[in-house]
Amino acid sequence: LASRDFHPDDTVIEIKGVKIGGNNLVVMGGPCAVETPEQIDEIARLVKAAGGQVLRGGAFKPRTGPYSFQGIGIEGLAMMAEAGKKHGLLTITEVMTPEYVDVCAEYADILQVGTRNMQNFDLLRKLGTIQTPVLLKRGFSATYDEFLNAAEYILAGGNPNVMLCERGIRTFETYTRNTLDLSAIPVLQSLSHLPVISDPSHGTGRRELVEPMAKASVAAGANGLIIEMHTDPDNSMTGDGVQSLFPDQFAALLKDLALLAPIV
Ligand code: PEP
Ligand code: MN
Repeated sequence: LASRDFHPDDTVIEIKGVKIGGNNLVVMGGPCAVETPEQIDEIARLVKAAGGQVLRGGAFKPRTGPYSFQGIGIEGLAMMAEAGKKHGLLTITEVMTPEYVDVCAEYADILQVGTRNMQNFDLLRKLGTIQTPVLLKRGFSATYDEFLNAAEYILAGGNPNVMLCERGIRTFETYTRNTLDLSAIPVLQSLSHLPVISDPSHGTGRRELVEPMAKASVAAGANGLIIEMHTDPDNSMTGDGVQSLFPDQFAALLKDLALLAPIV
């Protein structure tokens, strides 16, 4: 079902008037984690002002260590939903377990499957039973074939609204957090009709690399970007402040991107 062979036309997922896929460029921006109502409201305002269409923010965070901040949970979902509504943005948030799919879908417009859960087959199966759009992140060691098979689980369950997200893979390089695999964008688009979104934030782990890799992703044909932005990155509650853009950088980037592709 994910294959281009049986579905030659690009899939375009339409959510409340925002089209994801085809010739449209969608920009999702926001913090790694929802922290407070004030934080998410202010960031939502800035995402909207810059021309973004989707507010990102994790309420359930998949942390490498069990003692790290794990996200504020359902409260965070409500805060983000409110900020999104107020500022006219769609929202995307990560869901980690099948049990939380329904509640996350109640609050968010798009559900994100994180890199660590790409092959959480119970989660994928559950996401196949609803119609809420899913952004499936590539496992950091997954091949294209494994990635597309993970998408297939959701599609096979009956949910056609899947987008693929390249977020960097693990290589021998340690300077960057991950290696953003730019080739994945055209390869996945040739193998599949599903929209491909690039995440230059997790793909590099370094703020100064987000802008060039965002532009490179769009030049490579990405249908959208998901970018971390924070008003106070140095004090963000996850370690992802180092890869988060400052609001003015985010706004400047979107201005430049509009020259490469229409952000609609
Ligand atoms: C995130 O988007 O904040 C995140 C945890 O992403 P990934 O699953 O790609 O690490
Ligand atoms: Mn993050």
